[in-house]
Amino acid sequence: MSTDLPGHARAVIIGGGVVGCSVAYHLTRLGWGDVLLLERKRLTSGTTWHAAGLIGQLRATENLTRLAKYSAELYGRLEAETGQPTGFRQHGSLGLARTPERFTELKRAASMARTFGLEVEVLTPAEAGVLNPMIEVGDLVGAIFIPTDGQANPIDITQALAKGARMAGARIVEGCKVTGIAQASGRVTGVLTEHGPVTAEVVVNCAGMWGRAIGRMAGVNVPLQACEHFYVLTAPIAGLPKDLPVLRDPDGCLYVKEDAGKLLVGAFEPVAKPWGTDGIPDDFEFGELPEDWDHFMPFLEDAVRRIPALAEVGVRKFFCGPESFTPDDRYHLGEAPELKGFFVAAGFNSIGIQSAGGAGKALAEWITEGHPPIDLWDVDIRRMQPFQGAARYVRDRAVEGLGLLYAMHWPDRQYASARPARLSPLHERLAARGACFSELAGWERPGWFSEPGSTPAYDYAYGRTRWFERTAAEHQAVRERAGLFDLSSFGKFLLQGRDAETVLQRVCANDVAVEPGRVVYTQWLNERGGIEADLTVTRLASDRFMITTSAASQTRDFHWLRGHIPDDAHAYLSDVTSGLAVLGLMGPQSRELLARLTMVDLSNDAFPFGTSQEIELGYALVRAQRISYVGELGYELYIASEFAGPVLDLIQAAAGAEIRLAGFHALNSLRLEKAFRSFGHDLGDADTPFEAGLGFAVALDKPGGFIGRDALLRARDTVPSKRLVQFKLLDPEPLLHHDEPIVMDGVRIGLLTSGGYGHTLQTALGMGWVRHPAGVTAELLRQAHFEIEIAGERHPAEASLRPFFDPKGERMRS
Ligand SMILES: Cc1cc2nc3c(=O)[nH]c(=O)nc-3n(C[C@H](O)[C@H](O)[C@H](O)COP(=O)(O)OP(=O)(O)OC[C@H]3O[C@@H](n4cnc5c(N)ncnc54)[C@H](O)[C@@H]3O)c2cc1C
Repeated sequence: MSTDLPGHARAVIIGGGVVGCSVAYHLTRLGWGDVLLLERKRLTSGTTWHAAGLIGQLRATENLTRLAKYSAELYGRLEAETGQPTGFRQHGSLGLARTPERFTELKRAASMARTFGLEVEVLTPAEAGVLNPMIEVGDLVGAIFIPTDGQANPIDITQALAKGARMAGARIVEGCKVTGIAQASGRVTGVLTEHGPVTAEVVVNCAGMWGRAIGRMAGVNVPLQACEHFYVLTAPIAGLPKDLPVLRDPDGCLYVKEDAGKLLVGAFEPVAKPWGTDGIPDDFEFGELPEDWDHFMPFLEDAVRRIPALAEVGVRKFFCGPESFTPDDRYHLGEAPELKGFFVAAGFNSIGIQSAGGAGKALAEWITEGHPPIDLWDVDIRRMQPFQGAARYVRDRAVEGLGLLYAMHWPDRQYASARPARLSPLHERLAARGACFSELAGWERPGWFSEPGSTPAYDYAYGRTRWFERTAAEHQAVRERAGLFDLSSFGKFLLQGRDAETVLQRVCANDVAVEPGRVVYTQWLNERGGIEADLTVTRLASDRFMITTSAASQTRDFHWLRGHIPDDAHAYLSDVTSGLAVLGLMGPQSRELLARLTMVDLSNDAFPFGTSQEIELGYALVRAQRISYVGELGYELYIASEFAGPVLDLIQAAAGAEIRLAGFHALNSLRLEKAFRSFGHDLGDADTPFEAGLGFAVALDKPGGFIGRDALLRARDTVPSKRLVQFKLLDPEPLLHHDEPIVMDGVRIGLLTSGGYGHTLQTALGMGWVRHPAGVTAELLRQAHFEIEIAGERHPAEASLRPFFDPKGERMRS
């Protein structure tokens, strides 16, 4: 082992697992020869060495699938490129369904996969039995087969990536533990190691299950927890075909692969065992954890029912090793918001081998170009909130998260673990009034309200659930009378100081140099004109602004703004999320209801749309803002937390039966009818406001310009070749949940970014991107024939650039 350490490297990568080696490999491919990878023990000695080596390609989203597809392509050519065998074989993968619901899930996945150019076959049980003659198929409903999936040897893949990196100039030093992270003025400057310091422009945390501890050294939040993961290896089986496809039987929590004449049987059990909760032992190297037959036996018994031949062969090896899991089963990628130049690629949730190629490439491009190469918000480290790094939180969530990999991925499925974490000050009142809570970013938010006397609990289905009608009633109340939403989960920031306006003018695409009391809807853009944030800015005073964003974007948006405050600016940013509850009083009767409680003139002249005023409600001073995410006349009421309960009681007492408590499913249905966009779903950093139909919120000619203006100017006079489009199913029966393929003139062109049911329009609605080289116009949409594919079946749809409901927005301005 070499401890001959250079004093400087352009990039230092911490961790010599498959991920660190892939980042090193790809950085060198992009011309960064001066790369140093530090491994505390030996390459692969953490989690990588004992992986089962399944290389699947179908992921939950288009871009993650794109990255996994790239991994398979890369592993297919690495041997020729480096001379190091990888053991990569493409015999396909077979996914089994034991229930109709699971078959629907698989068929939806197949539809999605085909949209990305992945070949998938939907099979009958008998056809699945032909592909793998060892399996029992009598209880199956159906299956899917992905011919280009495969398997590989994780150690060999890692060594091949390391060799490729070395060949292009990277240095790999084993036996060198990183003990600290050096930083100055909010930027990483290098690492400290047991063999001395190394300065660097960029440091990349690829330390797997040690990633959280390495993050702590840097003051960076990397929420993950190691869990035990098991598989058994049978004795050799005579005549076992070498070309068996990898088998996934998620209803039995099982996966099976051929492994050098034996079968490897692994499981993702519903209740996992966290490991290393007091820290990962320092001497862990090529480590194995003790056998636990009691834990594994039920799954092995199930495997024997699926593959009866297993009953005849003994188990040669029980393997248990640790792997890291994140709070949402998605890995962490990208530049840490807390520290410039410090990047993370960790927490791979049992798919690190299949993900490493694509994740390493994407991160290397992110590092060299300064931004993600494609929209990677699903795995972006900025989606995490500080509290999610708490030891108890990551542990409790990991117990559930591992099993969810193979559980049914129901629409609106709620986590059962690590709850409650964040409660609105209205929580107890809303619970007493029947709220059924859903969780987002740790917040317990009313999803819908149950009938008096019934138990508020979710049931799940691809079709209509029991709470479908409850949501419909809440939706109708908002459209016809008034509804009351608890919106306290909004992220809320204050920017104060003499330079606050100048800072915000530079960051916002819209003009925020407005009179105090005005609310401005705006995007924050990157230099490419892509949308980094979608939010509102309220001018409270000449030197004071309030920024309101979605709960999921709280960390991202706070750090984006903080990163754009010049060092010498007199502008101070604080996060006031916890101090302010928010009630959304929405609906045509909302003005009249509010008028019963305040002396303030609420007329359209005195309190027009897009303005904000402080009003008295009972004993509370409340900031009321006339804006709406549901497309109706309405007010967002910002209330100091301790006053929120009494204000809710006051409004309900004054309004009686005229008002209805409403949840986030009704909100989603209402906003879909109005085609209001949702950041992270419909919008991302690769979409410009013009493409997204948000040009009305761009002040191209405001004095001083703004970040992204040059890119927008270049695009101003052309019809965008991609546009965000609304879809409405012509048949009112099928439901949309998002991610269903959009089919244009018989060709799948993308996926819905949002989907739901419009209870006023009485049919399913969706939103998604349509691309056309000559430009996407209303005329093109009129002429083309659109369908939406749901689990393989196509349903005719109407497409529109304008909202289907109240396209002129008259109701919310009334
Ligand atoms: C039983 C099992 C089966 C699996 N099967 C599959 C599969 O079939 N397909 C699949 O895609 N994935 C699979 N996985 C998951 C996969 O193995 C992991 O996701 C992947 O190996 C993670 O790689 P990594 O590089 O992030 O972490 P690691 O391999 O753990 O690498 C991190 C490295 O960082 C080093 N390090 C830590 N701290 C420091 C420090 N302070 N200084 C220097 N170095 C440090 C460690 O020593 C370690 O070598 C499986 C996992 C398990 C446990």
